[in-house]
Amino acid sequence: MAGEEASDSKVSLRTFLEHLSGAGKAIGVLTSGGDAQGMNAAVRAVVRMGIYVGAKVYFIYEGYQGMVDGGSNIVEADWESVSSILQVGGTIIGSARCKAFRTREGRLKAACNLVQRGITNLCVIGGDGSLTGANIFRKEWSGLLEELAQHGEIDKEQVQKHAYLNVVGMVGSIDNDFCGTDMTIGTDSALHRIIEVVDAIMTTAQSHQRTFVLEVMGRHCGYLALVSALACGADWVFLPESPPEEGWQENMCIKLSENRARKKRLNIIIVAEGAIDTQNKPITSEQIKELVVTQLGYDTRVTILGHVQRGGTPSAFDRILASRMGVEAVVALLQATPETPACVVSLSGNQAVRLPLVECVQMTQDVQKAMDERRFKDAVRLRGRSFETNLNTYKRLAIKFPDDQIVKSNCNVAVINVGAPAAGMNAAVRSAVRVGIADGHKMLAIYDGFEGFAKGQVKEIGWGDVGGWTGQGGSILGTKRTLPGKFLEDIAQQMRTHSINALLIIGGFETCDRIKQSASGTKRRVFIIETMGGYCGYLANMGALAAGADAAYIFEEPFDIRDLQSNVEHLTEKMKTTIQRGLVLRNESCSENYTTDFIYQLYSEEGKGVFDCRKNVLGHMQQGGAPSPFDRNFGTKISARAMQWISMKLKESPGKGKRFVTDDSICVLGISKRNLFFQPVTELKKETDFEHRIPKEQWWLKLRPLMKILAKYEASYEVSDSGQLEHVHHRGHEEPAAI
Ligand code: ADP
Repeated sequence: MAGEEASDSKVSLRTFLEHLSGAGKAIGVLTSGGDAQGMNAAVRAVVRMGIYVGAKVYFIYEGYQGMVDGGSNIVEADWESVSSILQVGGTIIGSARCKAFRTREGRLKAACNLVQRGITNLCVIGGDGSLTGANIFRKEWSGLLEELAQHGEIDKEQVQKHAYLNVVGMVGSIDNDFCGTDMTIGTDSALHRIIEVVDAIMTTAQSHQRTFVLEVMGRHCGYLALVSALACGADWVFLPESPPEEGWQENMCIKLSENRARKKRLNIIIVAEGAIDTQNKPITSEQIKELVVTQLGYDTRVTILGHVQRGGTPSAFDRILASRMGVEAVVALLQATPETPACVVSLSGNQAVRLPLVECVQMTQDVQKAMDERRFKDAVRLRGRSFETNLNTYKRLAIKFPDDQIVKSNCNVAVINVGAPAAGMNAAVRSAVRVGIADGHKMLAIYDGFEGFAKGQVKEIGWGDVGGWTGQGGSILGTKRTLPGKFLEDIAQQMRTHSINALLIIGGFETCDRIKQSASGTKRRVFIIETMGGYCGYLANMGALAAGADAAYIFEEPFDIRDLQSNVEHLTEKMKTTIQRGLVLRNESCSENYTTDFIYQLYSEEGKGVFDCRKNVLGHMQQGGAPSPFDRNFGTKISARAMQWISMKLKESPGKGKRFVTDDSICVLGISKRNLFFQPVTELKKETDFEHRIPKEQWWLKLRPLMKILAKYEASYEVSDSGQLEHVHHRGHEEPAAI
């Protein structure tokens, strides 16, 4: 993945602090509406960043109810009160629905409770309802204070001193039903739960040749259903935003029986809770089951997932997302002026952005309105580019046009896996093969990497051959680490023999693996964990952020004995408090001499009497297992885009079969900032450190201070990605989402 160039708007927290300190400010943090995994990570980040900048942070328990009730529901938080919550699902400060807050009377009480504690900064983690409430509260604030003063509950001085309420929202919702952000906190974890169930069901369905109708959450939003369908290659999906065309009953049955005829032993149908038809009538799971049983006579079962989707530990993605958003929220609160509108911090591609809350809520409500008025195309468009891309990709991959309807390109396109096997590779191959076939190419699979290529292990691969590949780990085509260098002649020969016009190379995906190491529950213990990645510290760094580690040693940020010493001392001090657990990550190639054993021994010796140590080398388990929903979808989408690009290049190239090697005909596709883009290998060469096989600039390095701040180090941190309020806007259809 390409690095981001340094932006001029970088401000270190230190310089930033000189102008905008948190001293004298009080921030209230609450979670409201339906709970979601990752909310705790957000609360932790708000508390620690708030304390870091010198502000007071208050927990507001039980959502708006606690704010209205006051008393022991509003309690000052300290650094340790959010220790060991990063990996816990739900929300430790409680969430509730609150009728009283919908009334002015209720909000008057809430305002009184906040003013008495000097809280004029509010960080709300919840869905669109909760954020709408926060915005109303903000607008009414000065009026509420006047009224309180009239009643004699506060004095004039307090009214003046606390004249403005700053509001920043973070969207916590498993449904991903909020416009303006690519991912809401909790969505990725919910997808994990769904995919675990789908994978489990698939094995039993396979054995019995069953059809499974799986209902997932989403009363108004089909995101979970759509992405689950993409991630498991479902036969059919029902969404509120994109109801099936009239006559769907027959079309669906044809599709199911066609798939069975292709020797597929099972069918998976995914239904969003709020699925409707074009007349806005609900389509229920039972109704679908009835249809399949009466029309096709298949053994059909319904599974309704329900609250399982909210459960379990938050995924690495959600922890990182929520931590980044939490820190950003505090910065946004400190930078707010009376003129700044309430904002939502969110994610666009891999960038943190701030958007006006009102615009996001408005657009979210517009989606519902469009659905109510049966303007379904508008509904999909309003959901955002990520949703639209998902839907288009799903349709492309799930529906095969009859051969006679596909215009042949007379081009042969080969797909190869290289490098270490990585979760998501098979999803990428499936997607490339299907998009390629739909574009009229003959698709060839190359087995066993470049070595197999040289030996002529090349075979045509069809639509049905890649069925069910999305969820499988490793590389089905087979991959070898051998580089093509010594086989160049043989490979060139094979290219000629098979008349290969384009080659799609899928490899080097190692970084998409996630670390799933949780080390809690034991007494005063420090875990030293070694991660993979060659010289690339991404896994160690992001793993550290996701697991709330105390230190992460990586090659990209050189360290010496003084750093080690200060880390050990820091950790020892921490472990003398109520903190029970320490976590240190070390990338396998971060230093030749400061080995994992060395670090383990150093910490063991220095920690004597305070804590003991354990070490763990994660090794190949990091490459194993079934791919996560993120990797399945990322593999699928990036590969579909790559194939589209190849098709476009093939069309552009004059005289088929001739040479047309230009600089941009060999590209790497990756995400940079907010967009997917193709980078010619010649350009990439300039940005690559070949000796260590890493980019010269690593975008994620800017997240390192975040980990340090959250682990109580003095560190400087760049203010957000732009530090500016942006607007929600639509992008053109031609510009697909990054993720
Ligand atoms: P979510 O935040 O998940 O969308 P809800 O819509 O149930 O969940 O909202 C959660 C809480 O936010 C409500 O119980 C209420 O206290 C508050 N809230 C929601 N909408 C409003 C509103 N229009 N005005 C004031 N408060 C609201």
